[in-house]
Amino acid sequence: MPLDPIQFLTEYSRFPSVSTDSAYAEGMTGARQYMMKQLEAFGFAVEEIATPKHPIILAERGPDREDVPHVILYGHYDVQPADPFELWSSPAFEPEVRDGRIYGRGTADNKGPQAVQLTALSRLLEKDPELPLRLTFLIEGEEEMGSPSFPGFLEKYGQRLSKADMILLSDTGSPGPEQIVVTTGLRGMLGLEVTVSGPRTDLHSGISGGPVLNPIAALARICASLHDEDGRVNVPGFYDAVVEPSDWEREELSKLGVTEEQYRDMLGVPAFKHVGGNKPFELIRFFPTLEFNGIGGGYQGEGSKTIIPSKAFVKITCRLVPDQDEADIGEKVRQAILERCPPEVRIDVKVTEGGSPYFVAPPGRPNTDPAMSPVLAKAFEAAEVSIGEAFGKRPIFLREGGSVPIIRQLKEATGLDSLMIGLFTPMDNLHAPDESFGLEMMEKGIDAYEGILRRLAYGK
Ligand SMILES: [Zn+2]
Repeated sequence: MPLDPIQFLTEYSRFPSVSTDSAYAEGMTGARQYMMKQLEAFGFAVEEIATPKHPIILAERGPDREDVPHVILYGHYDVQPADPFELWSSPAFEPEVRDGRIYGRGTADNKGPQAVQLTALSRLLEKDPELPLRLTFLIEGEEEMGSPSFPGFLEKYGQRLSKADMILLSDTGSPGPEQIVVTTGLRGMLGLEVTVSGPRTDLHSGISGGPVLNPIAALARICASLHDEDGRVNVPGFYDAVVEPSDWEREELSKLGVTEEQYRDMLGVPAFKHVGGNKPFELIRFFPTLEFNGIGGGYQGEGSKTIIPSKAFVKITCRLVPDQDEADIGEKVRQAILERCPPEVRIDVKVTEGGSPYFVAPPGRPNTDPAMSPVLAKAFEAAEVSIGEAFGKRPIFLREGGSVPIIRQLKEATGLDSLMIGLFTPMDNLHAPDESFGLEMMEKGIDAYEGILRRLAYGK
């Protein structure tokens, strides 16, 4: 019997698999075991791979032969915390269908797409139990906490996974079922923490004010120096490795169907900054950024307190694009900050986190990797046709502004590229109260996945 996706998703989402909070250990185990049982029922050889925290599910089925395409389907069984619970219209872990959507934490991110993948597969197996396709489900339990165990897992299992031809996943977004996006790139990430220290302790601003440079003023000047008037990042060499988007990418982006004005109103900003003369959506998808995520120091309480604070700090993150390297950019930004620190204060700059950007051009473009796996090339074509059939419109191939670090890690450890089909929409409230997954997206997504897997298996 093919899987009933709503029943599957309802049962799966009932397990509160919040990875970051140890109070939900039972929910994590429940969700994992539920998924493992489903995979076993469809003939998968299922392994539970221990990690320092939450185990990873690795499940394989199908002929292990060179001439049979081998696809890894990536997903994650963990979810974001559901608080604040009182803002949910129905309980977060009691999934409910209403108005064409299924509501509950994890119904979209990422359990819904797994319902899509598994249902599509079950329909193909119903027609042909000998489906000539080798499939590996790789489902981790730490995505929502930054996948800390994933690099260690790849060290041990990367070699084995590298025997596959490609990775297929849905953990990215589209504007809606009327326009599906196949994600061709992700921005990388880099974090810095800067602390400026002045006097040993907070000082009386009357007794010592004047000769002592205020750490907040020093830090504000440093921060302001990191962008020029135009909004470009003012760090020597920051843009050196940036590869300008190809014409076909700008053209695909123009089909997105959202106007600058709509987006501006949605965000509630009075105007956009057209950094380097680029359009807002181009800036999000094609160019790097340097953002201040938090700044502090001194007195923050009610009323006033006349001090020169001892310290001031700022948290910075950069989003990176191909071919920027996070270690290289981290060092360049760190150097720039150190050089701009005046001698009257001390400064400490820590580079805290990183992940490189990712890009894969579909076949037949000027910037397509000449060594692209034939199975992946076939999958891109199958996705274009199958999504076109299922959703009534061809997908657009577009980079995304966000970061999914594991995609680059998988590429580095296995050499495999990913086909990312966006099934999330802005309606889904990911990571927020009233998360939901649209049933139209689910049904059409199943049809599209069925088409892609069928075309990979039988060539038509
Ligand atoms: Zn996700």
